Amino acid sequence: MMRLTEHWMDSQTELTLSQADLLKGLLEEAEAVVIGIGAGMSAATGFTYIGKRFTDAFPDFIEKYRFFDMLQASLFHFEDAEEYWAFQSRFSLLNFFDQPVGRAYVDLRKIMKDKNYHVITTNADNAFYVADFDMEKVFHIQGEYGLLQCSERCHQETYQDEKLMRQMVKEQSDMKVPKDLVPYCPKCGAMLEINKRNEEKGMVEDYHFHEQKALYEQFLKDNENRKILFLEIGVGHTTPQFIKHPFQQMTKQNEKALFVTMNQKEYFIPHEIRSQTVKIDEDIEEVLHKVQKKIGEENVLN
Ligand SMILES: [Zn+2]
Repeated sequence: MMRLTEHWMDSQTELTLSQADLLKGLLEEAEAVVIGIGAGMSAATGFTYIGKRFTDAFPDFIEKYRFFDMLQASLFHFEDAEEYWAFQSRFSLLNFFDQPVGRAYVDLRKIMKDKNYHVITTNADNAFYVADFDMEKVFHIQGEYGLLQCSERCHQETYQDEKLMRQMVKEQSDMKVPKDLVPYCPKCGAMLEINKRNEEKGMVEDYHFHEQKALYEQFLKDNENRKILFLEIGVGHTTPQFIKHPFQQMTKQNEKALFVTMNQKEYFIPHEIRSQTVKIDEDIEEVLHKVQKKIGEENVLN
């Protein structure tokens, strides 16, 4: 059993609550909630990058390149532009334009309905949008699969062309799209590619990206000395610089802050914030659903 720091719940008694009740109680006590969402959240609600969802959509690419997962495959250096787009157009329909609603996202939206919160996510799928989130509260720090950028980063603008994506899926054969469908940068003529970050070139960060970033930073500033809950959900260790490390750092700087990590895998927690850390290791989708149901039932009673 665990104890919490003096600022949260009844710190004198050992907590014997279920994980859903614990999370619900902490969310009720928090004056502000910063939610960091990683790939584990999407995977928990069915948007997995491995298994049947991958093998059904990309049998030809798996046979040719022996890919193990869709995310790894999406970063591969394909042999030419036609092959790149044969893969990426299918990927963007599956993970963006045709992405269904995920229950965990809907539950999270309902849970947070009347609360003071903001979201930052490293996911580039369309899960928040289809779950009907207020997009003013969501910061996509790693781009979006529905957007295109100049592969040479010659200018900071992105493009969206759903019709072209659908046409490329429809007209491809033998893992190649027709040459004349490959999109090029209107400014420099380099190929356009999916809006994402890579190590050498970074990412195109357009006007909308900077707007989202400013709103997120404003939220942090407005709430920095309050009783703030940093809730990370399904955040692994691929890019800790965006969510995990800043959340831990901000927790360390504010003795009233609490760091709640929802993950079925065990990650290292720095010693300085252990007394301010709560681990929730049950199934993400189930815990969120239970919290949402409990809140819903209370609302009916009141
Ligand atoms: Zn360009």
